[in-house]
Amino acid sequence: MNQPQTHLDSTGSEAEFDFDAIVIGAGVAGLYQLYRLRGLGMRVRVFEAGTGVGGTWYWNRYPGARFDSESYSYGYSFSQELLDEWDWSEHFASQPEILSYLQHVADKFDLRKDIQFSSDVKAAVYREETNSWQIELQDGSRYTSRFLITGIGLLSQPTLPKIPGIESFQGQSFHTSRWPHEPVDYSGKRVAVIGTGATGVQTIQEVCKTAGHLTVFQRRPNWCAPLHNAKIGPEEMQSIRESYDEIFKTCGNTAAGFLHTADPRGTFEVSEKERYEFWEHLYASKGFGIWQGNFKDVLSDRKANKAMSDFVADKIRERVDNPETAERLIPKDHGFGSRRVPLETNYYESYNRSNVELVDVTATPIQEITPDGIVTTDRSLEFDIIIYATGFDAILGSYNRIDIVGADGRKLRDQWQEQLSTFLGIQVNNFPNLFMILGPHALLGNNPRSIEFNVEWIANLLEYMRTRGLVRAEATIEAVASWYEHVLEQGKDLLINEIDSWMTGVNSNLEGRDKRIVARYSGTQQTFRKRCNEVVEGGYAELNLQ
Ligand code: NAP
Repeated sequence: MNQPQTHLDSTGSEAEFDFDAIVIGAGVAGLYQLYRLRGLGMRVRVFEAGTGVGGTWYWNRYPGARFDSESYSYGYSFSQELLDEWDWSEHFASQPEILSYLQHVADKFDLRKDIQFSSDVKAAVYREETNSWQIELQDGSRYTSRFLITGIGLLSQPTLPKIPGIESFQGQSFHTSRWPHEPVDYSGKRVAVIGTGATGVQTIQEVCKTAGHLTVFQRRPNWCAPLHNAKIGPEEMQSIRESYDEIFKTCGNTAAGFLHTADPRGTFEVSEKERYEFWEHLYASKGFGIWQGNFKDVLSDRKANKAMSDFVADKIRERVDNPETAERLIPKDHGFGSRRVPLETNYYESYNRSNVELVDVTATPIQEITPDGIVTTDRSLEFDIIIYATGFDAILGSYNRIDIVGADGRKLRDQWQEQLSTFLGIQVNNFPNLFMILGPHALLGNNPRSIEFNVEWIANLLEYMRTRGLVRAEATIEAVASWYEHVLEQGKDLLINEIDSWMTGVNSNLEGRDKRIVARYSGTQQTFRKRCNEVVEGGYAELNLQ
C-alpha cells in the first residue's frame, strides 16, 4: 500500500488524499478529463488497465478495425493547435492511425506523467467521514481522492459465447477486443469468425482476403451499408482543416452529433421516384448518412422502415451471387436501422469468394468447441484460428466488474440491479463525488462529441465547487427519478428500443440478460444538452452540494 501524503486539497485545506481526482481509463474520455482537470490546477491520477493510452482504440486491434464515422468529426475539437497539426489519411481512419492520434495527444499535452498503466481498478469505496474515495487496484495498492471519475467506456467488457468446450481449443483464439499486439498471420489458415455485428463485419471483410478458408458463423444477420472510405490527400486535408469550424458546428446541430441528421421529409411525402433516388444517393454516400440522415420516419414508422428494409434487401440480393446465401444475409427479425448499422467495404462480396462460407447457426447451432475446431448439429469443422466477434457486456459491464461502494455501503451494481437510474448519465444518488463520462442513460451517438461535452460539464462543476469551498456533490433522489422518467419518455416509439441488441441490454452470453432494458438515452443531443445546461444555469439545484 502506498503512503498517503498530506497536501492542500482542491479547496485549499489540508487533507490526506493522494489526489484531488482519480480518473479510471486513459481512452478518449480519460485523456481529455485529465487535461481539463489539470487545467484547473488539480492533482489528478489516471489508472489504466492497459499498457498504453487509447481505450477502445488500444484494445480493439482486430483486423479491419476502423472508424465508422468521418475521422475529422471523431477527433477532439478542444485544441486548435491539435486540429492544425494532425492530418487524417483516410475519411474513416484505421485503428493503428487512431491509436497514433491518441498517443500523439498524450505526448503533446504531456499526459502520460499522470497516468499509471497496467493498473486495473478492482474496487472503489466512498468514505463518508472524509467525503472522499478510496480505490483499490488488482495488485492490492490503494489510493484516495476527493473525486472519482470513470472513463471506462460502454463497450469495453468483452463477452465470449457460452459454448461447451470453448477452453479446449488447441489453435489460436481471440476475442476481437483482446487482440494480440503482435501480428496474426491468417494466410493459408482455416479461420472461423463467430458474430456478425459491426466488429464481425469489419473483421470478415479483411480476414477473407488472406485466410486459406474462412467460415463465418452467423446467428442473426444485420443490415449493413457501404462505408465508401477514401484516402485524404494533402489538398483535401487542407480544405477539411479550413472547414473544422463548420464541421463541429454541424455536429453540434444534428440529433446524435454526427455529420448526418434526419431528412425533414417523411418517406411517403415524396414521390416513389424521389424516394428511390434519395435512397440510391444515400447508399452511394459515405458513412452513417443512410442511417442517421434518412427520411425522418424511417426509424420510427413501421411502413417507412419496411420500405427502406426492402430497398436494402434488394441491394444485398444484387451483391451476393448465391441467392440462398443472400437470403441468409438479409435480416428477417428486425428492420433497417433498428440495430446499429455496420458499415462495410465489400462485406457482401466476401461471400462470393470461393474461400468463404456462411454457416447459419440458427439452422445448425454450434454444439461444442473441440481441441480441433467447431461442431455444429450438422457437421464437424477443423480450424487453426477462432475469432470471437461476440460483443460486449455493454454499458453496464465496465461498471459491474468494479466493486463500487456508495455512501450507505451498497454496491453500485446492486443498486442498479434494483433500478438502473442516473442523473444525466453522470451522477448517481448514494455515490457522492462519483462522475461518469457516458454512464448509463447518457447521450451516446458521436461519442467524442458527447465525451467532450460531459468532460467539460464535470470540470465546470468541480471548478464551481472549488470556488465555493464545496467538497461533496450528490444527485438528489428526485433528480435521478426525474431523469429516469425523461429517459423513458424519450425512448418511446423508437424501433431501436423494441429489438434485442447491446443497446437494449440483451446479451445471450450473460445470465439474466435476456430481457430488454432502457440502458441509454434515446433523445436528441439538443434535449440532452439543454437539460445539462439548465442544471448549470440553475446553480446545480438537482445536486446536493456541501
Ligand atoms: P455486437 O453488435 O453485440 O455483435 C455481436 C455478434 O456476435 C452478433 O452478431 C451476435 O449475434 C453474435 N453472437 C454473440 N454471441 C453469440 C453466440 N453465443 N453464438 C453465436 N453468435 C453470437 O458486438 P460488436 O460487433 O462487437 O459491436 C458492438 C458495438 O461496438 C457496435 O454496435 C458499435 O456500436 C461498436 N463498434 C463500433 C465500430 C466503429 O465505430 N468503427 C466498430 C465495431 C464496433 P446476435 O445478433 O444473434 O446476438
